[in-house]
Amino acid sequence: MAKHTVKVGISGKYGTRYGSSLRKQCKRLEVPQHARYPCTFCGRKTIKRVSFGIWKCHGQGCGKVMSGGAYMLATPAAVTARSTLRRLRDIATGKTGQQ
Ligand SMILES: [Zn+2]
Repeated sequence: MAKHTVKVGISGKYGTRYGSSLRKQCKRLEVPQHARYPCTFCGRKTIKRVSFGIWKCHGQGCGKVMSGGAYMLATPAAVTARSTLRRLRDIATGKTGQQ
């Protein structure tokens, strides 16, 4: 196939409309939105977005549905929250001991 959208990529669907800056902003959200992500349950790279914040694994025999970011599976805020939660849980259950 011809490489006809080397620069604009997915935002080429908007043609010349809406201005180049807005198309660039759209692209920043739409590329991770349509990307496939590795599944933490089956290890395959088969997770796709179903709708806002809903992600589903399309691997055979897996099919797990999980929540995530609106446009990408793991947002920086979600990663921070997860590590904080784990740290606090470890402290609460006494796994880390005294430090
Ligand atoms: Zn899976």
